[in-house]
Amino acid sequence: MAINLEDPKKFRALVGQAHQVAMNMLRPISRKYDLAEHEYPKELDMLAAMIDGLSESGASEGAGAAGVRRDENGDDKTVKNGANLASVMSIAEMCWGDVGLLLSMPRQGLGNSAIASVADDEQLKRFDGVWAGMAITEPEFGSDSAQIKTTAVKDGDHYVLNGEKIFVTSGDRADHIVVWATLDKELGRAAIKSFVVAKGTPGMTVERLEHKLGIRASDTATIRFENCRVPAENLLGSPEIDTKQGFAGAMATFDNTRPLVASMAVGCARASLDLTRDLLQQAGVEIDYDRPAHTQSAAAARFLQMEADWEAAYLLTLQAAWMADNRKPNSLEASMAKAKAGRVGSDITLGCVELCGHVGYSETELLEKWARDSKILDIFEGTQQIQQLIVARRVLGLSSAELK
Ligand SMILES: Cc1cc2nc3c(=O)[nH]c(=O)nc-3n(C[C@H](O)[C@H](O)[C@H](O)COP(=O)(O)OP(=O)(O)OC[C@H]3O[C@@H](n4cnc5c(N)ncnc54)[C@H](O)[C@@H]3O)c2cc1C
Repeated sequence: MAINLEDPKKFRALVGQAHQVAMNMLRPISRKYDLAEHEYPKELDMLAAMIDGLSESGASEGAGAAGVRRDENGDDKTVKNGANLASVMSIAEMCWGDVGLLLSMPRQGLGNSAIASVADDEQLKRFDGVWAGMAITEPEFGSDSAQIKTTAVKDGDHYVLNGEKIFVTSGDRADHIVVWATLDKELGRAAIKSFVVAKGTPGMTVERLEHKLGIRASDTATIRFENCRVPAENLLGSPEIDTKQGFAGAMATFDNTRPLVASMAVGCARASLDLTRDLLQQAGVEIDYDRPAHTQSAAAARFLQMEADWEAAYLLTLQAAWMADNRKPNSLEASMAKAKAGRVGSDITLGCVELCGHVGYSETELLEKWARDSKILDIFEGTQQIQQLIVARRVLGLSSAELK
């Protein structure tokens, strides 16, 4: 099959709109909410209403976190540019504006992606329009989510949750949280299920917010669950503990969300490259994309090398999302995209600070902020090292027990 590296025509309007929003609505308030950590960016309410309107009118195909459902009813033979691809492209544009603000967008949380990925039709309808954060991490583990200690015990037509979750993005502002908990610690990964918990449910308390290096517009919360009763029908996916299937159900969410996080890194790095190119040109540095880098100035050569890294990350991200749209298994590609984009996102944004010297380091420009913001994209939804581990396992055909 021939590979067409052009952006799909049908997404041009969506991508153009996202770029306009990023430039005219996010950039102007970017520094304000970086400085005013934990203050809710109220300007986002209007923007979120606009995105809701676009989705309802069908004018945008999956322009956000909830657009990552795999359509099971398509025709197998047709190649599709669908909601996953639309989401990564529009999210990259929004993150060209501001990653922290994108992460603060009402009704576009990573919990929404989890619901979109694994909810059944009835749940999809019931949770339509909610704003959901995602709570996996606990004080005693981060990367190794098989270590989950939060318990869910069936009691009549409810599950009772007990445990503590930390670093929950939008944990304070979202109206629902998708909580990962175990039905039976003895049964390991297969017993881990996710539960949609509405804010205000007795027994659920937001304890505190974190102060952070970057994405300071986004709230990051610690949430405690004490005998928190959740309706049984809020368990996402099957309530059965299938030891053969293991973790696969829960992990399927990541195949859809990792390309989204990769696209955030791509968007933030693009912002740094665009501004750096302008600043270098103003300083008299000529960058010629058509000549070999080694024949140009050191600054131009370094810039072109970063452009090449960016392009590789961008293409891997598109590939992983496109595979999801076409119902192809994409765990390997999703991890490759996240590993590459997470790493080069940090390298590029910091490299741009370096190339622009004191201008890069100063708060007069946003370059220093983007270098801080991009680091998280190499950490959450699976760190750099964990993505490489997953890639290695897949390439070598080894299980998680065989390669740790
Ligand atoms: C701002 C922010 C927002 C977040 N939002 C959320 C959220 O919304 N929901 C949520 O559930 N979590 C969230 N997290 C948590 C995030 O997912 C974890 O921080 C991440 O999974 C890493 O876990 P950890 O911090 O415990 O590090 P650890 O797992 O302790 O890892 C520490 C270091 O060791 C490395 N490492 C670990 N295991 C291995 C291995 N087997 N091989 C090689 N290296 C290894 C890691 O890559 C890392 O560099 C957020 C974190 C931050 C900082």
